[in-house]
Amino acid sequence: MSKEELETPKEEKKSLSFVEQLVEEDLAEGKNGGRIQTRFPPEPNGYLHIGHAKAICMDFGVAEKYHGVCNLRFDDTNPSKENNEYVENILHDIQWLGFKWGHIYYASDYFQKLWDFAIWMIENGHAYVDEQTAEQIAEQKGTPTTPGTPSPYRDRPVEENLRLFRQMNTPEAVEGSMVLRAKLDMANDNMHFRDPIIYRIIQTPHHRTGTKWHCYPMYDFAHGQSDYFEGVTHSICTLEFVPHRPLYNKFIDFLKEYDGTADNLNDNRPRQIEFNRLNLTYTVMSKRKLHTLVDEHLVRGWDDPRMPTLCGMRRRGYSPESIRNFIDSIGYTKFDALNDMALLEAAVREDLNKKATRVSAVLDPVKLVITNYPEGQTEEMEAINNPEDETAGSHKITFSRNLWIERADFMEDAPKKFFRMTPGKEVRLKNAYIVKCTGCTKDADGKITEIQAEYDPTSKSGMEGANRKVKGTLHWVSCDHCVKSEVRVYDRLFNVENPSADERDFRELLNPDSMKVYDNCYVENFAATKKPGEYLQFQRIGYFMADPDGTAEKPVFNKTVGLKDTWAKQQKK
Ligand code: ATP
Ligand code: MG
Repeated sequence: MSKEELETPKEEKKSLSFVEQLVEEDLAEGKNGGRIQTRFPPEPNGYLHIGHAKAICMDFGVAEKYHGVCNLRFDDTNPSKENNEYVENILHDIQWLGFKWGHIYYASDYFQKLWDFAIWMIENGHAYVDEQTAEQIAEQKGTPTTPGTPSPYRDRPVEENLRLFRQMNTPEAVEGSMVLRAKLDMANDNMHFRDPIIYRIIQTPHHRTGTKWHCYPMYDFAHGQSDYFEGVTHSICTLEFVPHRPLYNKFIDFLKEYDGTADNLNDNRPRQIEFNRLNLTYTVMSKRKLHTLVDEHLVRGWDDPRMPTLCGMRRRGYSPESIRNFIDSIGYTKFDALNDMALLEAAVREDLNKKATRVSAVLDPVKLVITNYPEGQTEEMEAINNPEDETAGSHKITFSRNLWIERADFMEDAPKKFFRMTPGKEVRLKNAYIVKCTGCTKDADGKITEIQAEYDPTSKSGMEGANRKVKGTLHWVSCDHCVKSEVRVYDRLFNVENPSADERDFRELLNPDSMKVYDNCYVENFAATKKPGEYLQFQRIGYFMADPDGTAEKPVFNKTVGLKDTWAKQQKK
C-alpha cells in the first residue's frame, strides 16, 4: 500500500463488500420494512480467535452501517462442551474489539419452543426417532452420487415416535441410544437432506438450564429457528454453511407452516449469506486444535501470546484497531484463502507506531562505563514519548556514569559499515551525549565484560556540539536507574505455513523455538511502571507490552512485534 492510499479517508476508497451489496438490494426492494438485524452466534465452547473477529466485524459492521442492530446469540446447544467461563470471555473480547450488541440471547432460551416445534414435526410426519447407532446411520447416508438407505425406523407410527421422543428427554435416557431425525429425502443430492439428526440425548447438565433437558437440538435445528424467532433479517456466516442453506430454508418453511405464516413468504424470513473464513499462516484456527494446545500444555493457556485467540493477541500487545484494520484490508469474498500473518503484523506495527510510548530497554546487556563522567553524578534527560503524537508528551530518563547497552551494539574489531560502538569511533547515546569508545575489558574466556567510553560534555541534545554528524544512535539504561526484567520474545507457533493442510499430526509441526525468554533484561524505571494494556515501543527493538505475570520487583514484557519484518527477510535467504 502506498502512503497516499493509506491516508485516503476510508469512506472514499472503500467499495461495498458483496454482503453489503446484497443487503442494499434487500433494502431497495423494501424487504422486512427496511429493517436490518444481524447476530453474532458463538458457541460458548472456547475462546474467540481472530477468525471470529472477522465474523464479528461483518455482523456488527453491517448492522452499524445500515442503522440496524446486531445481537449476540450464544449457540449453547451442546452442554457437554460449553460453560459460563467461555460466555464471559466472549463478551469481554467483543467489547474489547469495540462493538456493542443490542440484546444477548441464548439458543437455550428457545429449548421449549424448539421442543414444541419438534413435536409438531413428529405429529405431521416430518420426524421420527431412530434407534440405530451413529455408525449405522452414517453408513446408510449413501454418497453424493448414490442415494442413502432408509432407516428401518423411518415409518414408525406417530404415537410411537412421540412416546420415544419424550423418553429421550428423561434422566434415564442413554446417550447415543436414540436420535430424532427429520424425515426429508434420503436420495437428495444435498447430503444434509438425507434425514438429518435434529435431536440427541446429552446427560451433561447445561450451564444455564441445568438438568431440565436431557435431549438437545442439533445446530441445523436450532440456528435458523433462533434467527427466525429473533427476527434476524440477514444471517451472515462462513462458507462451510453453503450446503446447509437449503436445509436452513426448509426448516423455516416448516416453522412458518407451524406458526401459520406460510403464505406470507417474504415476511420475517432471515436470509443466510456466506463469506470466506479467515485463515492465517503458521497457526491453526480450529477450536478443537486450540483446545488440544491448551489441554496438553503445548502453550501456556488460551491467552498465551502465541495463540491466535483475541485474549492471546491482547496479552501480546495487539491493539483492537490493528485487528480491525487487518480484517478490513483482507476483505470478504466467496473463496477461501490463507491470509499472510505478515499482513496482520504490518497492521499491528502501523497502529502501534501511532500509539506506543517510546522507552528504553536492554535485552542482552553489557556494561558501558563513561570514564570521564563523574561518579555519583546523574542527569535527567528529556525523552519524547512518541514522535508520531505531539500530545503524548515526554518523560525523564536518568543518565549516569554506568550504563547498560546491548551486547550486539559493540564490536571490538568492527567492519567499516558497523555504525555502532567500536574503539576509536563516536556514537550518539539516545537523548543524551555523543561518546567515543576507548576500549573494553574481557574475562578469561574472551567474553567482553565491560566497555569504556568518554563523553563529550558539549554534545547533549540541543547543545552546539550535538550537531556534528555521528552515524549511529544507541539506546541505553542507567545501571542504577533501571529495573531487571524478563522479556518474552515470540516466533511463529508452527513451522509450516499451513498446518491444517499438512498430513502430519499438528503437534509435530509446532515450532519448538516459538518462545524465547530473556530473563536478564533492564528497562528504564519509567517503563517498569507500565501496566498490561499500555502500548510500548522498546526503542530500536520493537513493540512490547507488560505481562500480568510481572511483579513490581521483576516486570515481565511480551514482544508484540518487531519494528520491521525481519522474519520475511529471513525466509528469502
Ligand atoms: P469450530 O472451530 O468448532 O468449527 P467455530 O469456529 O465455527 O467452531 P462458532 O462459535 O460456532 O465457532 O463461531 C461463531 C461464528 O464465527 C460463526 O458464525 C462462524 O462462522 C464464525 N467463524 C468461526 N471461525 C471463523 C473464521 N476462521 N473466519 C471467519 N468467521 C469465523
Ligand atoms: Mg461453528
